[in-house]
Amino acid sequence: MQFEVLATCNTTRARVSRMKLPHGVTLLPTFMPVATQAAIKGLTPQQMEGLGVTLILNNTYHLNLRPGIEVLREAGGAHRLQGWNHNLLTDSGGFQLVSLNKFTKITEEGALFASPFTGEPTMLTPEESISIQHAIGADIIMQLDDVVSSLTVGPRVGEAMKRSVRWLDRCIEFHEKSGRNTVQNLFAIVQGGLDPVLRDECLDEMVRRRESVAGYAIGGLSGGEEKDIFWRIIRQCAEKLPADKPRYSMGIGFAEDLLVCVALGVDMADCVFPTRTARFGVALTFNGPLNLKLGKHAKDFNPIDSTCPCPTCSDRISRAMLHHTVTHETAAAHAVTLHNLAFQARVLGQARDAIMNGTFPTYLRRFFAGYFGDVGYPEWCVNALRSVGVDLLEGNPNAKVVKGDGAKWEYSDAM
Ligand SMILES: [Zn+2]
Repeated sequence: MQFEVLATCNTTRARVSRMKLPHGVTLLPTFMPVATQAAIKGLTPQQMEGLGVTLILNNTYHLNLRPGIEVLREAGGAHRLQGWNHNLLTDSGGFQLVSLNKFTKITEEGALFASPFTGEPTMLTPEESISIQHAIGADIIMQLDDVVSSLTVGPRVGEAMKRSVRWLDRCIEFHEKSGRNTVQNLFAIVQGGLDPVLRDECLDEMVRRRESVAGYAIGGLSGGEEKDIFWRIIRQCAEKLPADKPRYSMGIGFAEDLLVCVALGVDMADCVFPTRTARFGVALTFNGPLNLKLGKHAKDFNPIDSTCPCPTCSDRISRAMLHHTVTHETAAAHAVTLHNLAFQARVLGQARDAIMNGTFPTYLRRFFAGYFGDVGYPEWCVNALRSVGVDLLEGNPNAKVVKGDGAKWEYSDAM
């Protein structure tokens, strides 16, 4: 990997960088759409390409179960299997240890879980995770970490953090011995829950291994923790991570979360949110999310967003049509998914432009005014951005600020 910082914001910790991987260049900050089963739900690789997306995520745990490692090896890797010629990142399977934890037992050796298809006990070790990721052939691969839910408290959090450091060493050793480290780039994952002391300890240990890793992820967040704690942990990690490596926040997909993370120094993020919410009939726009299922769209013949360059909006597929078909017809799911991924790309593309032009604080104020002007600014966003020198309420002191996690959108039942 070649990683070069092209510009840094004078006010916040945001930066624009150029990451060159075996399958091309990706400009950061970027949002990575999630193709769990080597397929973005509702879109073809050509459509992804058409949106200008250059980096997507595949899921190791799921690809290992189906189609399985032999098929992947025979195909020559997941790029070929799915017809995707751009960059690919695979997670390690660690997250499933949280999301499927009913079936999982963690030992020092690895994670033991029952296959959801056959019930057979299956052991995922750090070495095995890297070996599967080698067969998948992603440009960026992730260490196996011991993940606990962000709501977990007590000694388990520290135990999981320390084990994640030990498992990182096993991943590094296996990866280096394989010789695949010249074409596949291993990222470490910082753990430590919501405890700043544990996070610091993990950061110290993992930064010490900087010569052996290509980048760093911030893991163990976005699991229902308070947002005011979430941003403080992101800020702490982004500050301590080396400036010459990419920083990846896992599981972040709401526009406000993305922009706050970027301002705190994060370069990459992924989430199923924009594609999942599309299938539930919600279109993302610069004026906030739009629930297309609501009756008010039944006779609205405008596109979702007339300024949006995505195929759905430029073909002027009407809100009325989408209201009529969304959640019933697959074509509507495709149309809204296309739009939502274009929206994510525009939010971050415009952020990159603003960082390059030295206008990122203005962009943040304008974005939040458009997105939250009517429903109120989430207080945690105001706090987080103040910590890096941007006052969202500047010039707008009477703006409504919503405590807690922020606005309840009209689609709150449909995320
Ligand atoms: Zn659009």
